[in-house]
Amino acid sequence: MSTIFSKIINKEIPSDMVYQDEHVTAFRDIEPQAPVHILIVPNRKIATVNDIQEEDEQLIGKMFTAARKIAAEEGIAADGYRLLINCNKHGGQEVFHLHMHLFGGRPLGPMLLRR
Ligand code: 5GP
Repeated sequence: MSTIFSKIINKEIPSDMVYQDEHVTAFRDIEPQAPVHILIVPNRKIATVNDIQEEDEQLIGKMFTAARKIAAEEGIAADGYRLLINCNKHGGQEVFHLHMHLFGGRPLGPMLLRR
């Protein structure tokens, strides 16, 4: 089952795309939670972190390399930023195509709400 992210990767629906190569695509989140909020996704669908296989290790590394490049492009590398991946229900995952959130552009506060 493909998701909305496959359609964005294939440019079947519009997005504010900031990066694409043969392995990875990145586009701005439609509901940004920080001045910079970008989603970095593998072009080949992997549903969740639970579905990552050993043969995906290079691809996962490329997501981080893309994050580093995009952070520099966005001018947030020196001040810093946050990378986050949600997995399944307790993680709050809504779209089941693996994606890394890149947040930045302001101090991001504590990692989790304390309860
Ligand atoms: P999750 O909760 O699965 O980690 O995050 C999914 C993210 O995808 C959310 O932050 C949501 O705003 C974003 N999103 C959902 N649908 C779309 C869309 O059609 N376009 C874009 N650019 N972002 C989307």
